[in-house]
Amino acid sequence: MAKYEPNQRIKFAYKLEGWSYESGSQSELKRTGEKVLPSEYTRDMEGKIFCPGCFTNLVRVPKGTDYFSNGRDAYFAHLRTYKHVKCDLRVKRSEGKKFDTYEEAQKAIDDENLVIVSGFLQEKPQGQRDPAGVYDETPVEDMNGPVSKVPIARHSGESFSLPSKITTVAGICRNFDENLYKHYFLPGRQHAVRLIDLLKDVREVTQKDSAPRLYFGKIIRSYTPINDPAYHNTRMTELASAPSVKDFYLKEEHGISSSKGINDKTQERYVLMWGKVGTNGIGLCIEGLSWGEFALLPAQYDYLLET
Ligand SMILES: [Zn+2]
Repeated sequence: MAKYEPNQRIKFAYKLEGWSYESGSQSELKRTGEKVLPSEYTRDMEGKIFCPGCFTNLVRVPKGTDYFSNGRDAYFAHLRTYKHVKCDLRVKRSEGKKFDTYEEAQKAIDDENLVIVSGFLQEKPQGQRDPAGVYDETPVEDMNGPVSKVPIARHSGESFSLPSKITTVAGICRNFDENLYKHYFLPGRQHAVRLIDLLKDVREVTQKDSAPRLYFGKIIRSYTPINDPAYHNTRMTELASAPSVKDFYLKEEHGISSSKGINDKTQERYVLMWGKVGTNGIGLCIEGLSWGEFALLPAQYDYLLET
């Protein structure tokens, strides 16, 4: 049996010289630590790399740099020394985070480790420029939502009343690497789950699904069925799909799509969507999303979704 289970959920480690789990500040590590991929690991990083979930030391497997030329099969693993520190990134998939007290949950919100989402923005805020870049220039457009009763207490049946956000998928794409390890409580859900465990690849979707979820898809091509489309004409954006699915489209108005940076030239980029899966002919689609419900992922984060 292998000493470590391959763990693809730890996409990067924080590297910070002189920091330690025992005496270091976690927010300082997050703020000033360098993000290192398994493929970027070098031997001199030993003892200086930490888990984005629990902040204990990680090791790179394999340990040396000379095993693989491309490093693609390398991964990070926790140390047994820190077995007593619970980290849901140790397991293949997490059930969601529970909190003992209201104060603990409120602190997680204040520390930006927990986000209660009561809804996604339906209309574009006035005067906002369009986010569409390769780089992360997404404007912040979160609004305060209502105080919501959230069933994330460890005691079953108990809820905490917590402040919520009305957010956008674009906002989730902003600082995407850090957001991956935050817990999100999404509308209609029962658990606060790390973003990395919420995101569902449309390549794994084989049938329609009437429950809204957070999906991502890799764009194969995008086009409008008519020339010189008006704002309200449909733009068809084809996404990489499961072998058993004929095709999978994001169907949106041309105008809203192009303001999100999706046009005839968009290829090989990732789009994130909060929506339901319906049918499109004999294929599948996600359609009719509002302003805040989809966004093109800044290309600098593509590596986090590559498999
Ligand atoms: Zn961990």
